[in-house]
Amino acid sequence: MRIAVFSPEIYTYGAMTIGGIIKDAGYDVSITRDPSVVHGDYVFISLYSTQHLMEEQIFSLVKRLKSEGSRVIIGGPTCADPQMVHGELNPDLVVTGEGEPAVLKILQGDDWEKIPNCAFIRDKQLITTSKERLADISRPLPLIPDDISTQDIRGAQTYIETHRGCFGRCGFCQVPLSFGRKIRSRPLEEIFQEVRAFKEKGVRRIALIGGTGSLYLAKDEVLNEGAFIDLLKGLAEILGPKNVSCPDIRADCITDKILDAVRTYSVGWIFFGIESGSPHVLDLMQKNIYPETVERAFDQCREHGVRAAGSFITGYPGETLEDHEMTKDLIERICPDDVFISSAEPIPSTPLADLVVKTMENENPAFITHKGEFEPLHLTEAEARAFDLMLHADSCRMIPRLTTDDLYHTYLNEVKKQGDDIRRATRLLQKYHAR
Ligand code: SF4
Repeated sequence: MRIAVFSPEIYTYGAMTIGGIIKDAGYDVSITRDPSVVHGDYVFISLYSTQHLMEEQIFSLVKRLKSEGSRVIIGGPTCADPQMVHGELNPDLVVTGEGEPAVLKILQGDDWEKIPNCAFIRDKQLITTSKERLADISRPLPLIPDDISTQDIRGAQTYIETHRGCFGRCGFCQVPLSFGRKIRSRPLEEIFQEVRAFKEKGVRRIALIGGTGSLYLAKDEVLNEGAFIDLLKGLAEILGPKNVSCPDIRADCITDKILDAVRTYSVGWIFFGIESGSPHVLDLMQKNIYPETVERAFDQCREHGVRAAGSFITGYPGETLEDHEMTKDLIERICPDDVFISSAEPIPSTPLADLVVKTMENENPAFITHKGEFEPLHLTEAEARAFDLMLHADSCRMIPRLTTDDLYHTYLNEVKKQGDDIRRATRLLQKYHAR
Protein backbone atom coordinates (compact mmCIF):
# COMPACT_ATOMS: atom_id res chain seq x y z
CA MET A 1 0.00 0.00 0.00
CA ARG A 2 1.41 3.41 -1.03
CA ILE A 3 0.70 6.44 1.10
CA ALA A 4 1.39 10.08 0.26
CA VAL A 5 1.29 13.22 2.35
CA PHE A 6 0.75 16.47 0.45
CA SER A 7 1.40 19.87 1.99
CA PRO A 8 0.81 22.82 -0.39
CA GLU A 9 3.59 25.43 -0.74
CA ILE A 10 5.43 24.58 2.49
CA TYR A 11 6.12 21.43 4.45
CA THR A 12 4.00 22.12 7.50
CA TYR A 13 5.10 20.67 10.78
CA GLY A 14 1.72 18.94 11.09
CA ALA A 15 2.14 17.20 7.72
CA MET A 16 5.63 15.99 8.65
CA THR A 17 4.34 14.75 12.02
CA ILE A 18 1.56 12.70 10.44
CA GLY A 19 4.04 11.35 7.87
CA GLY A 20 6.37 10.34 10.72
CA ILE A 21 3.65 8.40 12.54
CA ILE A 22 2.76 6.55 9.34
CA LYS A 23 6.41 5.76 8.60
CA ASP A 24 7.05 4.58 12.15
CA ALA A 25 4.15 2.12 11.81
CA GLY A 26 5.99 0.50 8.86
CA TYR A 27 4.07 1.91 5.90
CA ASP A 28 5.58 3.08 2.60
CA VAL A 29 5.00 6.85 2.79
CA SER A 30 6.29 9.91 0.94
CA ILE A 31 5.79 13.64 1.44
CA THR A 32 5.69 16.40 -1.18
CA ARG A 33 4.70 20.01 -1.86
CA ASP A 34 4.20 19.33 -5.56
CA PRO A 35 0.58 18.37 -6.43
CA SER A 36 1.57 16.95 -9.83
CA VAL A 37 3.53 14.06 -8.26
CA VAL A 38 0.99 13.04 -5.63
CA HIS A 39 -0.24 9.45 -5.99
CA GLY A 40 -1.18 6.83 -3.44
CA ASP A 41 -3.75 4.41 -2.15
CA TYR A 42 -4.23 6.85 0.70
CA VAL A 43 -3.39 10.54 0.33
CA PHE A 44 -3.29 12.83 3.36
CA ILE A 45 -3.59 16.52 2.48
CA SER A 46 -2.67 19.13 5.08
CA LEU A 47 -4.43 22.50 4.66
CA TYR A 48 -3.53 25.40 6.90
CA SER A 49 -5.31 28.32 5.19
CA THR A 50 -8.98 28.93 4.39
CA GLN A 51 -7.78 30.14 0.99
CA HIS A 52 -6.78 26.55 0.14
CA LEU A 53 -10.46 25.60 0.13
CA MET A 54 -11.01 27.98 -2.78
CA GLU A 55 -7.94 27.06 -4.81
CA GLU A 56 -8.54 25.45 -8.15
CA GLN A 57 -5.25 23.53 -7.87
CA ILE A 58 -6.35 21.78 -4.66
CA PHE A 59 -9.86 21.13 -5.96
CA SER A 60 -8.42 19.53 -9.13
CA LEU A 61 -5.95 17.47 -7.11
CA VAL A 62 -8.67 15.95 -4.92
CA LYS A 63 -10.80 15.26 -8.00
CA ARG A 64 -7.93 13.58 -9.86
CA LEU A 65 -6.91 11.46 -6.86
CA LYS A 66 -10.46 10.25 -6.33
CA SER A 67 -10.79 9.38 -10.02
CA GLU A 68 -7.59 7.31 -9.67
CA GLY A 69 -9.13 5.41 -6.75
CA SER A 70 -7.15 7.04 -3.92
CA ARG A 71 -8.73 7.59 -0.55
CA VAL A 72 -8.34 11.32 0.12
CA ILE A 73 -8.12 12.50 3.72
CA ILE A 74 -7.83 16.20 4.54
CA GLY A 75 -6.52 17.52 7.85
CA GLY A 76 -5.00 20.73 9.23
CA PRO A 77 -6.34 23.90 10.84
CA THR A 78 -8.93 24.52 8.10
CA CYS A 79 -10.68 21.29 9.05
CA ALA A 80 -12.11 22.75 12.24
CA ASP A 81 -15.05 23.47 9.90
CA PRO A 82 -15.53 20.07 8.20
CA GLN A 83 -18.80 21.08 6.55
CA MET A 84 -16.95 23.70 4.53
CA VAL A 85 -14.12 21.33 3.61
CA HIS A 86 -16.52 18.63 2.41
CA GLY A 87 -18.65 21.20 0.60
CA GLU A 88 -15.75 22.79 -1.29
CA LEU A 89 -13.36 19.91 -1.93
CA ASN A 90 -15.37 16.71 -1.52
CA PRO A 91 -12.66 14.49 -0.01
CA ASP A 92 -13.47 11.05 1.43
CA LEU A 93 -12.70 12.00 5.01
CA VAL A 94 -11.85 15.09 7.03
CA VAL A 95 -9.80 14.92 10.23
CA THR A 96 -11.25 17.65 12.40
CA GLY A 97 -8.91 17.81 15.37
CA GLU A 98 -5.62 16.24 16.40
CA GLY A 99 -4.65 13.77 13.69
CA GLU A 100 -2.53 11.43 15.78
CA PRO A 101 -5.39 9.42 17.34
CA ALA A 102 -6.98 8.89 13.91
CA VAL A 103 -4.28 8.33 11.31
CA LEU A 104 -3.31 4.70 11.91
CA LYS A 105 -6.92 3.65 12.50
CA ILE A 106 -7.79 5.08 9.08
CA LEU A 107 -5.01 3.07 7.44
CA GLN A 108 -6.00 -0.11 9.30
CA GLY A 109 -9.46 0.21 7.74
CA ASP A 110 -11.37 0.76 10.99
CA ASP A 111 -15.00 1.82 10.78
CA TRP A 112 -14.83 5.61 10.33
CA GLU A 113 -17.68 6.11 12.74
CA LYS A 114 -15.49 4.66 15.51
CA ILE A 115 -12.40 6.75 14.72
CA PRO A 116 -12.13 9.95 16.79
CA ASN A 117 -11.81 13.43 15.26
CA CYS A 118 -13.30 12.50 11.89
CA ALA A 119 -16.06 13.86 9.65
CA PHE A 120 -17.47 12.22 6.53
CA ILE A 121 -20.58 12.30 4.37
CA ARG A 122 -23.03 9.43 4.49
CA ASP A 123 -26.42 9.59 2.74
CA LYS A 124 -25.78 13.29 2.11
CA GLN A 125 -25.45 13.88 5.86
CA LEU A 126 -22.28 15.07 7.59
CA ILE A 127 -21.30 12.54 10.25
CA THR A 128 -18.86 13.78 12.89
CA THR A 129 -17.24 11.39 15.35
CA SER A 130 -16.15 11.81 18.97
CA LYS A 131 -13.53 14.42 19.86
CA GLU A 132 -10.30 13.23 21.41
CA ARG A 133 -7.20 15.06 22.59
CA LEU A 134 -4.05 13.10 23.36
CA ALA A 135 -3.04 13.15 27.00
CA ASP A 136 0.56 12.44 25.97
CA ILE A 137 1.84 14.20 22.83
CA SER A 138 5.10 12.19 22.54
CA ARG A 139 5.56 10.74 19.09
CA PRO A 140 8.07 9.29 16.63
CA LEU A 141 10.38 11.43 14.49
CA PRO A 142 8.63 13.43 11.76
CA LEU A 143 8.92 12.46 8.10
CA ILE A 144 11.54 15.00 7.02
CA PRO A 145 11.73 15.61 3.27
CA ASP A 146 15.13 15.63 1.55
CA ASP A 147 14.66 19.22 0.34
CA ILE A 148 13.61 20.69 3.71
CA SER A 149 16.75 22.87 3.66
CA THR A 150 15.32 24.86 0.71
CA GLN A 151 12.38 26.05 2.77
CA ASP A 152 12.29 29.57 4.24
CA ILE A 153 9.58 30.52 6.74
CA ARG A 154 10.44 33.91 8.24
CA GLY A 155 14.12 32.90 8.10
CA ALA A 156 13.69 29.37 9.51
CA GLN A 157 13.56 26.15 7.50
CA THR A 158 10.93 24.71 9.80
CA TYR A 159 8.84 25.34 12.87
CA ILE A 160 8.80 22.73 15.61
CA GLU A 161 6.21 22.01 18.27
CA THR A 162 7.35 21.82 21.88
CA HIS A 163 3.91 21.92 23.53
CA ARG A 164 0.22 22.38 22.75
CA GLY A 165 -2.51 24.61 24.13
CA CYS A 166 -2.88 28.10 25.54
CA PHE A 167 -4.79 29.32 28.56
CA GLY A 168 -5.87 32.41 26.58
CA ARG A 169 -9.27 32.88 24.98
CA CYS A 170 -8.49 35.22 22.07
CA GLY A 171 -11.54 35.22 19.83
CA PHE A 172 -9.58 35.23 16.57
CA CYS A 173 -7.33 32.28 17.51
CA GLN A 174 -7.78 28.57 16.94
CA VAL A 175 -5.20 27.38 19.47
CA PRO A 176 -7.39 27.07 22.61
CA LEU A 177 -10.22 25.54 20.57
CA SER A 178 -8.10 22.99 18.74
CA PHE A 179 -5.58 22.17 21.44
CA GLY A 180 -7.33 23.18 24.64
CA ARG A 181 -6.44 25.59 27.43
CA LYS A 182 -4.30 23.12 29.35
CA ILE A 183 -0.65 22.92 28.29
CA ARG A 184 0.62 19.52 27.14
CA SER A 185 4.37 19.38 26.56
CA ARG A 186 6.71 16.98 24.79
CA PRO A 187 9.71 15.42 26.59
CA LEU A 188 12.84 17.53 26.24
CA GLU A 189 15.01 14.71 24.88
CA GLU A 190 12.42 13.87 22.20
CA ILE A 191 12.48 17.50 21.00
CA PHE A 192 16.29 17.53 20.88
CA GLN A 193 16.37 14.23 18.98
CA GLU A 194 13.95 15.70 16.45
CA VAL A 195 16.04 18.86 16.02
CA ARG A 196 19.16 16.75 15.48
CA ALA A 197 17.27 14.86 12.77
CA PHE A 198 16.27 18.14 11.10
CA LYS A 199 19.87 19.32 11.29
CA GLU A 200 21.09 16.13 9.60
CA LYS A 201 18.71 16.93 6.72
CA GLY A 202 20.26 20.38 6.28
CA VAL A 203 18.05 22.54 8.51
CA ARG A 204 20.06 25.51 9.75
CA ARG A 205 17.47 27.48 11.72
CA ILE A 206 14.31 26.45 13.55
CA ALA A 207 11.51 28.46 15.12
CA LEU A 208 9.22 27.40 17.93
CA ILE A 209 5.61 27.13 16.85
CA GLY A 210 2.73 29.18 18.21
CA GLY A 211 2.10 32.25 20.32
CA THR A 212 3.05 30.74 23.63
CA GLY A 213 6.79 29.91 23.52
CA SER A 214 7.50 30.28 27.24
CA LEU A 215 4.58 28.04 28.30
CA TYR A 216 6.69 24.91 27.78
CA LEU A 217 5.89 22.55 30.68
CA ALA A 218 3.75 25.26 32.34
CA LYS A 219 1.08 23.90 34.71
CA ASP A 220 -2.16 25.54 35.80
CA GLU A 221 -1.17 28.85 34.21
CA VAL A 222 2.12 28.91 36.16
CA LEU A 223 5.30 29.28 34.08
CA ASN A 224 8.09 26.72 34.40
CA GLU A 225 10.95 29.10 33.60
CA GLY A 226 13.62 26.48 34.33
CA ALA A 227 12.15 24.07 31.78
CA PHE A 228 11.88 26.76 29.13
CA ILE A 229 15.46 27.91 29.72
CA ASP A 230 16.73 24.29 29.48
CA LEU A 231 14.80 23.98 26.22
CA LEU A 232 16.37 27.07 24.64
CA LYS A 233 19.83 26.17 25.98
CA GLY A 234 19.64 22.63 24.56
CA LEU A 235 18.42 23.88 21.17
CA ALA A 236 21.24 26.42 21.06
CA GLU A 237 23.78 23.66 21.80
CA ILE A 238 22.52 21.72 18.78
CA LEU A 239 22.08 24.53 16.25
CA GLY A 240 23.95 27.52 17.69
CA PRO A 241 22.07 30.36 19.44
CA LYS A 242 21.76 32.44 16.29
CA ASN A 243 19.78 29.62 14.69
CA VAL A 244 17.04 29.29 17.30
CA SER A 245 14.06 31.56 17.10
CA CYS A 246 11.38 31.73 19.72
CA PRO A 247 9.37 34.45 18.05
CA ASP A 248 6.04 34.55 19.84
CA ILE A 249 5.57 34.85 23.59
CA ARG A 250 2.61 36.25 25.52
CA ALA A 251 3.39 39.66 27.04
CA ASP A 252 2.21 38.36 30.43
CA CYS A 253 4.47 35.28 30.25
CA ILE A 254 7.98 36.68 30.58
CA THR A 255 10.38 36.91 33.52
CA ASP A 256 13.86 38.39 33.88
CA LYS A 257 15.43 34.92 33.59
CA ILE A 258 13.36 34.05 30.51
CA LEU A 259 14.46 37.26 28.79
CA ASP A 260 18.12 36.57 29.63
CA ALA A 261 17.72 33.10 28.11
CA VAL A 262 16.06 34.52 24.97
CA ARG A 263 18.99 36.93 24.58
CA THR A 264 21.65 34.26 25.22
CA TYR A 265 20.25 31.17 23.51
CA SER A 266 18.18 32.52 20.62
CA VAL A 267 18.21 35.19 17.93
CA GLY A 268 17.16 37.56 20.70
CA TRP A 269 13.82 38.74 19.36
CA ILE A 270 10.29 38.41 20.74
CA PHE A 271 7.04 39.14 18.92
CA PHE A 272 4.21 39.94 21.30
CA GLY A 273 0.62 39.51 20.16
CA ILE A 274 -0.50 43.05 21.06
CA GLU A 275 -3.42 43.29 18.61
CA SER A 276 -4.76 46.71 19.69
CA GLY A 277 -4.12 49.67 21.96
CA SER A 278 -7.79 50.01 22.80
CA PRO A 279 -9.17 48.22 25.89
CA HIS A 280 -12.57 48.22 24.18
CA VAL A 281 -11.23 46.22 21.20
CA LEU A 282 -9.13 44.00 23.46
CA ASP A 283 -12.33 43.16 25.33
CA LEU A 284 -14.11 42.38 22.05
CA MET A 285 -11.22 40.05 21.25
CA GLN A 286 -11.16 38.59 24.78
CA LYS A 287 -7.42 39.19 24.68
CA ASN A 288 -7.07 39.93 28.39
CA ILE A 289 -3.62 41.48 27.94
CA TYR A 290 -3.90 45.26 28.17
CA PRO A 291 -1.55 48.10 27.10
CA GLU A 292 -0.02 48.53 30.58
CA THR A 293 1.21 44.91 30.44
CA VAL A 294 2.53 45.39 26.92
CA GLU A 295 4.40 48.56 27.88
CA ARG A 296 5.93 46.82 30.88
CA ALA A 297 6.97 43.88 28.68
CA PHE A 298 8.67 46.20 26.17
CA ASP A 299 10.57 48.02 28.95
CA GLN A 300 11.63 44.70 30.47
CA CYS A 301 12.85 43.38 27.09
CA ARG A 302 14.97 46.46 26.56
CA GLU A 303 16.46 46.22 30.04
CA HIS A 304 17.59 42.67 29.13
CA GLY A 305 18.86 43.43 25.63
CA VAL A 306 16.00 41.64 23.83
CA ARG A 307 14.55 43.17 20.65
CA ALA A 308 10.79 43.60 21.09
CA ALA A 309 8.31 43.51 18.24
CA GLY A 310 4.54 43.25 18.07
CA SER A 311 1.68 42.04 15.95
CA PHE A 312 -1.50 44.08 15.54
CA ILE A 313 -4.93 43.33 14.13
CA THR A 314 -6.97 46.08 12.46
CA GLY A 315 -10.61 46.20 11.44
CA TYR A 316 -12.00 43.88 14.13
CA PRO A 317 -15.80 44.16 13.91
CA GLY A 318 -16.70 46.88 16.42
CA GLU A 319 -13.36 48.74 16.14
CA THR A 320 -13.91 52.51 15.79
CA LEU A 321 -11.60 55.23 14.50
CA GLU A 322 -11.02 56.24 18.10
CA ASP A 323 -9.84 52.69 18.89
CA HIS A 324 -7.52 52.85 15.89
CA GLU A 325 -6.00 56.09 17.19
CA MET A 326 -5.39 54.41 20.56
CA THR A 327 -3.42 51.67 18.78
CA LYS A 328 -1.33 54.31 17.02
CA ASP A 329 -0.69 55.99 20.39
CA LEU A 330 0.45 52.70 21.89
CA ILE A 331 2.85 52.11 18.98
CA GLU A 332 4.26 55.58 19.57
CA ARG A 333 4.83 54.78 23.25
CA ILE A 334 6.51 51.39 22.79
CA CYS A 335 8.43 52.01 19.50
CA PRO A 336 8.42 48.34 18.36
CA ASP A 337 11.60 47.15 16.65
CA ASP A 338 9.38 45.46 14.09
CA VAL A 339 5.66 44.93 13.52
CA PHE A 340 3.37 42.46 11.85
CA ILE A 341 0.07 44.07 10.93
CA SER A 342 -2.93 42.26 9.56
CA SER A 343 -6.64 42.84 9.08
CA ALA A 344 -8.87 40.64 11.24
CA GLU A 345 -9.12 37.25 9.55
CA PRO A 346 -12.09 35.06 10.46
CA ILE A 347 -10.46 31.66 10.94
CA PRO A 348 -13.13 28.91 10.78
CA SER A 349 -14.67 27.80 14.07
CA THR A 350 -13.35 30.77 16.08
CA PRO A 351 -15.59 33.28 17.89
CA LEU A 352 -14.41 35.88 15.35
CA ALA A 353 -15.78 33.71 12.51
CA ASP A 354 -19.18 33.64 14.27
CA LEU A 355 -19.06 37.37 14.82
CA VAL A 356 -18.17 38.08 11.21
CA VAL A 357 -21.03 35.90 9.94
CA LYS A 358 -23.46 37.80 12.20
CA THR A 359 -22.11 41.25 11.26
CA MET A 360 -23.79 42.98 8.33
CA GLU A 361 -21.29 43.84 5.58
CA ASN A 362 -22.09 47.55 5.91
CA GLU A 363 -20.93 47.33 9.54
CA ASN A 364 -17.84 45.20 8.91
CA PRO A 365 -14.62 47.25 8.37
CA ALA A 366 -13.42 44.56 5.91
CA PHE A 367 -16.23 45.61 3.53
CA ILE A 368 -16.82 49.32 4.32
CA THR A 369 -15.29 51.68 1.74
CA HIS A 370 -12.69 53.95 3.32
CA LYS A 371 -13.54 57.64 2.99
CA GLY A 372 -10.64 59.33 4.81
CA GLU A 373 -7.03 60.19 4.11
CA PHE A 374 -6.39 57.20 1.79
CA GLU A 375 -9.62 57.53 -0.25
CA PRO A 376 -7.79 57.84 -3.63
CA LEU A 377 -6.21 54.40 -3.00
CA HIS A 378 -9.63 52.64 -3.08
CA LEU A 379 -9.25 50.72 0.17
CA THR A 380 -11.71 49.34 2.65
CA GLU A 381 -11.68 50.69 6.18
CA ALA A 382 -9.80 47.64 7.51
CA GLU A 383 -7.22 47.91 4.71
CA ALA A 384 -6.76 51.66 5.24
CA ARG A 385 -6.20 51.18 8.97
CA ALA A 386 -3.68 48.37 8.36
CA PHE A 387 -1.86 50.56 5.81
CA ASP A 388 -1.89 53.52 8.18
CA LEU A 389 -0.45 51.39 11.01
CA MET A 390 2.33 50.06 8.79
CA LEU A 391 3.44 53.57 7.83
CA HIS A 392 3.03 54.83 11.38
CA ALA A 393 5.02 51.93 12.90
CA ASP A 394 7.93 52.66 10.55
CA SER A 395 8.07 56.25 11.71
CA CYS A 396 7.99 55.13 15.39
CA ARG A 397 10.89 52.64 15.25
CA MET A 398 13.88 53.36 17.47
CA ILE A 399 15.67 54.13 14.21
CA PRO A 400 12.79 55.33 11.96
CA ARG A 401 12.51 53.60 8.59
CA LEU A 402 12.24 55.84 5.54
CA THR A 403 9.13 55.11 3.48
CA THR A 404 10.49 54.65 -0.02
CA ASP A 405 8.19 54.30 -3.04
CA ASP A 406 8.94 50.58 -3.11
CA LEU A 407 8.04 50.11 0.53
CA TYR A 408 4.86 52.18 0.15
CA HIS A 409 3.69 49.97 -2.73
CA THR A 410 4.72 46.77 -0.95
CA TYR A 411 2.54 47.74 2.02
CA LEU A 412 -0.31 48.81 -0.23
CA ASN A 413 -0.27 45.54 -2.15
CA GLU A 414 -0.04 43.58 1.08
CA VAL A 415 -3.11 45.20 2.65
CA LYS A 416 -5.11 44.83 -0.58
CA LYS A 417 -4.19 41.14 -0.84
CA GLN A 418 -5.10 40.57 2.83
CA GLY A 419 -8.40 42.41 2.26
CA ASP A 420 -9.28 40.27 -0.78
CA ASP A 421 -8.45 37.06 1.09
CA ILE A 422 -10.50 38.10 4.12
CA ARG A 423 -13.56 38.97 2.04
CA ARG A 424 -13.31 35.64 0.21
CA ALA A 425 -13.02 33.78 3.52
CA THR A 426 -15.97 35.74 4.93
CA ARG A 427 -18.17 34.93 1.94
CA LEU A 428 -17.25 31.26 2.26
CA LEU A 429 -18.27 31.28 5.91
CA GLN A 430 -21.53 33.04 5.00
CA LYS A 431 -22.24 30.34 2.42
CA TYR A 432 -22.13 27.58 5.06
CA HIS A 433 -23.35 29.37 8.17
CA ALA A 434 -26.62 31.26 8.18
CA ARG A 435 -26.76 34.59 10.01
S1 SF4 B 1 -2.45 34.23 23.60
FE1 SF4 B 1 -1.88 33.70 21.50
S2 SF4 B 1 -2.06 31.45 21.37
FE2 SF4 B 1 -3.13 32.11 23.23
S3 SF4 B 1 -5.28 32.32 22.62
FE3 SF4 B 1 -4.33 34.35 22.42
S4 SF4 B 1 -3.58 34.46 20.28
FE4 SF4 B 1 -4.01 32.30 20.75
